[in-house]
Amino acid sequence: MNPGFIEHIGIAVKSLEQAIPLYEKLLGLKCYAIEEVLDQKVKTAFFKLGQTKIELIEPIDVTSPIAKFIEKRGEGLHHIAFAVDGLEHKLSEAESQGVSLIDKKPRKGAEGLDIAFLHPSSTMGVLMEFCEKKE
Ligand code: ZN
Repeated sequence: MNPGFIEHIGIAVKSLEQAIPLYEKLLGLKCYAIEEVLDQKVKTAFFKLGQTKIELIEPIDVTSPIAKFIEKRGEGLHHIAFAVDGLEHKLSEAESQGVSLIDKKPRKGAEGLDIAFLHPSSTMGVLMEFCEKKE
């Protein structure tokens, strides 16, 4: 397993309207994109720090996995996403090492990436995402 870099860090927030100005002021970053991911029922806001992005994630529906996360654990660090080459291969490799997968097959994430989540029960409580940019 040889991840290229940390593609992004996902942070669950109740309100982008409150969170965006905080990140802009505190870190001097500029939010460069806001995108709805209907599959996850969320709205995401992106900031760039070198190669890595910060992704703020606000639920737009109570049935969103992010709404459930905030309800259970409050706002905060949600997942770490690693850029990989050959996402499907990485997933089957992880599975063969005994890691349980939330997504056995890649699906569409924000920013045109193919993504898949690994189950935090297999990764010391950290929700990990693998993602791949398909040109
Ligand atoms: Zn993500």
